[in-house]
Amino acid sequence: MVFLLRRGLANGWGANALSFDDDDLAQWPVSFSDMESAYKTVYERIPVAGPDGDDLAPHLRGVYPSQPPVRLSASDDRLLKTYERRKHALGRLGVKIGRARLAVVTDPSRTDACDYSGRCLWGCPNGSIYNPRLSTLKQCEAHPGFRYLQGRVVLALRSSDNRIDSIRYLDSATREIREEPCGAVFLAAGALQTGAIFLRTLRDSGVNSECRSEGLMDKTVVRIPFVALRSLGQGPDPRSFQFNRLIAAVIGESAPWPSYLHTELLHLTDLIYHPLIERMPLDSRNSAKLFFAIRHAIGAATLFFPDRITAGNHQVLAEAEGNPETVVLRYRDSEDKERFIRQSVARMRSALHRLGCITRGVVRSEPGAGIHYAGTVPMGTGPRRCDATGRSNRFSNLYIADGAAFPSLPSKPITMSLAAHATRVARLAAL
Ligand SMILES: Cc1cc2nc3c(=O)[nH]c(=O)nc-3n(C[C@H](O)[C@H](O)[C@H](O)COP(=O)(O)OP(=O)(O)OC[C@H]3O[C@@H](n4cnc5c(N)ncnc54)[C@H](O)[C@@H]3O)c2cc1C
Repeated sequence: MVFLLRRGLANGWGANALSFDDDDLAQWPVSFSDMESAYKTVYERIPVAGPDGDDLAPHLRGVYPSQPPVRLSASDDRLLKTYERRKHALGRLGVKIGRARLAVVTDPSRTDACDYSGRCLWGCPNGSIYNPRLSTLKQCEAHPGFRYLQGRVVLALRSSDNRIDSIRYLDSATREIREEPCGAVFLAAGALQTGAIFLRTLRDSGVNSECRSEGLMDKTVVRIPFVALRSLGQGPDPRSFQFNRLIAAVIGESAPWPSYLHTELLHLTDLIYHPLIERMPLDSRNSAKLFFAIRHAIGAATLFFPDRITAGNHQVLAEAEGNPETVVLRYRDSEDKERFIRQSVARMRSALHRLGCITRGVVRSEPGAGIHYAGTVPMGTGPRRCDATGRSNRFSNLYIADGAAFPSLPSKPITMSLAAHATRVARLAAL
């Protein structure tokens, strides 16, 4: 049985597809070699576009592109060529640039190949961008033992003798709360929802201690807007791919952890720019003229900062407005993280200047805006954690099959690792 799979975040994700290597997994009881075969399976199922090799490849172990890289815009191409000429200077800053690795079909012989219609943000009309609703769910439905049950919101799991024996859920059509008996449970409702379901399950099982999660991790996202001077006056690309076609890394052997800081480099292509134009200090017509003259030179470098389990950052089960099912998030960025952010942003800005870009300020997103959450039922010891195979330490037939089980949150995009973790959990489950 699978509940509500159709509403996952990958309906609108950015498709950046990387794997975690041993450095990324440093605080895990799982190594890259433990994950490797699961990664291979995932890359066989999800086609990934990317180059055969580039300056980033040595840092991207476990990434297996099967599709040609996504086409660059003219401004991307110019930036990459400038990087090739200046890479020694950038190397001193630890900054490397390469083509993005994206879960997108680009092989022109396939009917679902990207045709650069510039509609990625609104849902690819060709189905070129990986979306589990369109592919994985369909493959599951082909299995005779599989049932997709619509409209059931899981609230908690019922247990006796430290085993889960039923699922308590809200039927969203009738608003009734019901129970369904079960054998084993693989919980993968996204790290926040998995954490919430787990907390309610602990409460219902009679745990006396405060019902709070072991952790809560979130990636801090910082954007550096830039104008690439060499691309001023660049005409429009007739067809484009809207997401980032380039990635970069700030690589620091002396960085606190991990040594690879993931960055996405995006030059603007086709989007709705009306709100930006109306904020320019000119009348609408002149603002629009000026904006379209510089549009293809405008870009942003988006840096994703990793996270660790930190005291005080967790989910808490707290009755709010009479609702005993409410789960509250408590989260604060740590001082260490702030230092790392300042240093890395300074290096990336210097690199952009050396590439002929002017930068202005940085834009830091609110906590939570990175949409890479993890660590609510992390691997480790104790009843509120799971073991290295994802099995709950408290409930012997409950498996934590998503990012809730991650004991640290590396900078790299997480989705391929979510899928690899789920694959590994399913393979190792002792059913
Ligand atoms: C705009 C955007 C861009 C992104 N870009 C990238 C990127 O480039 N690369 C990358 O790696 N990641 C990216 N992400 C993050 C990525 O999409 C998510 O990390 C990933 O999809 C999470 O998958 P998940 O299955 O763990 O959780 P979810 O996608 O949240 O899926 C959980 C599923 O469980 C169901 N569910 C939840 N609660 C319940 C409940 N109580 N009962 C029943 N069912 C429930 C939900 O309906 C959903 O179907 C992006 C996300 C967004 C929004």
